[in-house]
Amino acid sequence: MNELELIIDLHRFNERQGPGSQEDTLRALQFCDLPDSDVLRIADIGSGTGAQTLTLAQHLKGKITAIDLFDEFLNELEKRKSHQPLGCEIEVLQASMDELPFKTESLDLIWSEGAIYNMGFEKGAKYWNQFLKPGGYLAVSEITWITNHRPNEIEEFWKSEYPEIATASEKIRILETAGYSLRGYFKLSESSWIDSYYQQLSNQFEAFLQRHENSKEANEIVEESKREIELYQKFKQYYSYGFYVAQKTD
Ligand code: SAH
Repeated sequence: MNELELIIDLHRFNERQGPGSQEDTLRALQFCDLPDSDVLRIADIGSGTGAQTLTLAQHLKGKITAIDLFDEFLNELEKRKSHQPLGCEIEVLQASMDELPFKTESLDLIWSEGAIYNMGFEKGAKYWNQFLKPGGYLAVSEITWITNHRPNEIEEFWKSEYPEIATASEKIRILETAGYSLRGYFKLSESSWIDSYYQQLSNQFEAFLQRHENSKEANEIVEESKREIELYQKFKQYYSYGFYVAQKTD
């Protein structure tokens, strides 16, 4: 397996592939004043194994297209969805978020938790806008500075990992420029990082290393994840995921 395949293999058995929780998904959903309709059209972009897809499908009526670049994650979502009664039909689609097959102005809601960074927040917000109906909603979570100043160590780390990291006011400005008006913002709690994500990820390390016969490459991936978790523990007062809910204005 190459590095990417190993990363997928470490994450595929987890409920989620990034910070978040059912509570966060429902809190963001409350900011969306969606039409009272049985035929809502929704896209969940970068769905991973679909924790938030399933939450949305339990609370809305219509059809959700769950999109991810990797079939390994979508196959897990397919398995999970068959185990519960849902208000929405879920279809999975292997595609890249920067090349979507939707018609112009065809979606009521675009959802994306912890994934838009793969194409960049600004580029994604601009590109996805065309697929929303007038008045449609965008709900995205994105890594966000929660203070105006921070220690060099964490500033350097994130600047090299994801140069677009910024404060909420800067992200909101980008959304406004991209044709949206903000309807709600909140930051994810520590529990959404630790209990819902990092704890589950850490629980996988041992089995993952065994599956890959303790290879150097597998160990490197575990070490990288541990470093990310340590950095979060050390610097969590300076960054989190921000959840942005915005309505299309033009
Ligand atoms: N929304 C999920 C997964 C977040 S992790 C959750 O919160 O648990 C980011 C996801 O984006 C991964 O599943 C990854 O496979 C997917 N991804 C990465 N690049 C992508 C691309 N270009 N197009 C679509 N999905 C992509």
